[in-house]
Amino acid sequence: MFSNAEIGIDLGTANILVYSKTKGIVLNEPSVVANNIDTKNIVAVGAEAKEMIGKTPKNIVPVRPLQDGVIADFDVTAQMLKALLKKVSKKAGLSMRKPTVVVCTPSGSTSVERRAIHNAIASYGVKNIHIIEEPVAAAVGADLPVEEPVANVVVDIGGGTSEVGIISLGGVVSGNSVRTGGDHMDEAIIQHIRKRHNVLIGERTAENIKMEIGYAHPDHEELKMDIRGRDMVTGLPETVTVSSYEIHEAIKESLYNILEAVRVTLESCPAELSGDIVENGIVLTGGGALLNGLTEWLEKETLVPIRLAPEPREAVAIGTGRSLKMIEKLQKAKK
Ligand code: ADP
Ligand code: MG
Repeated sequence: MFSNAEIGIDLGTANILVYSKTKGIVLNEPSVVANNIDTKNIVAVGAEAKEMIGKTPKNIVPVRPLQDGVIADFDVTAQMLKALLKKVSKKAGLSMRKPTVVVCTPSGSTSVERRAIHNAIASYGVKNIHIIEEPVAAAVGADLPVEEPVANVVVDIGGGTSEVGIISLGGVVSGNSVRTGGDHMDEAIIQHIRKRHNVLIGERTAENIKMEIGYAHPDHEELKMDIRGRDMVTGLPETVTVSSYEIHEAIKESLYNILEAVRVTLESCPAELSGDIVENGIVLTGGGALLNGLTEWLEKETLVPIRLAPEPREAVAIGTGRSLKMIEKLQKAKK
């Protein structure tokens, strides 16, 4: 029954998603694992582990092994992946043995890292494993005609990295990856609140501020938000009111880094394909693409039409699960 089943895994720096062709998205959890450093056991994985960040006793350490887009610790990554796969096969009744698994890793990952991922999945009993480049998966998931000889441009903004890719005839014609994403915006917000208000906040609070009142462009109607943190002088809990204008200032640098990656990629686009871009525009995927006003701002800066993929946060996982036929076709063509 499962013999033709295809499963796609999006191994993101912030979130791991599993997509089954027959069941849709069956897992969507943060790429976090919490270990007990005394016993070396996994205490929690996914959402449960993310919930623990900043709140654990000393012997429990929540880590994000893919945080910077590189696999910092093979063992921890493999452990996390296995724990999540176990969870999904139980929950969704998916057998991981028979299906073909396509996995998408952060591009810029080395062949050693890819091998480690491959081995982690193989050790779970999966026989057919393919690894796909992230921009291709994002474009497939965004329903772009990737196999045609036209320029399909995607910008995927994740937690630790952002990827820009121009895809034509099933492959990446030109691309660029930067180690800047939503995490860097969160970090910039933490720094800003500390310097400007003398208050310390954690990652989770910073991320909430970004989602609520973070704007990509300066010209918007001002929003205010009350936030809680620790006063650096008194050490006591303190509430401060922050403005969306100051948050914009804080995240601006990250946004310009991403814009630069887009510009460089567009400039390196073969002339024959440039016309397509002006006409078809750019599609945004990844959680970071949901930042308020991002599409409008990018459109103004690049003078190219920009639109959001139908399910920005799920596009890579969906595309990974749907790209098997294309991968096989491309492999045959190479032989
Ligand atoms: P990755 O592929 O690296 O795992 P995701 O595509 O899951 O990353 O995106 C995660 C990033 O998207 C995080 O930095 C998160 O804060 C950000 N994000 C998610 N939703 C929103 C939103 N509504 N507004 C702004 N940023 C968001
Ligand atoms: Mg991603």
